[in-house]
Amino acid sequence: MTCKGICIRHKAQKPVGSGRYALGQRRCQICEIFINWVGLWCPCCGYRLRSKPRNLKYKDKLRARRKREEIDMLIHKQPAPQIQKPGKSIMHKSVDR
Ligand SMILES: [Zn+2]
Ligand SMILES: [Zn+2]
Repeated sequence: MTCKGICIRHKAQKPVGSGRYALGQRRCQICEIFINWVGLWCPCCGYRLRSKPRNLKYKDKLRARRKREEIDMLIHKQPAPQIQKPGKSIMHKSVDR
């Protein structure tokens, strides 16, 4: 199982605005390339193609982000949720004019 250079002919362009896997592009680990290919196996090296992103990594990323948002929320909540102080807004108006 080695790269024979055939995959280059099927090389997929990097999509704008959406994921490669969403567009049906497949990744060959051996050729280290994304190709436009409908089959399950690489036409070049014959290795099984990846048609989905690595779930674990994606989930980890998502979880990490959610945790960060939670922490952010906690930090922002502590002083008190944004309460409009009448005195402040009046001051703002006078500054504007
Ligand atoms: Zn190849
Ligand atoms: Zn390949």
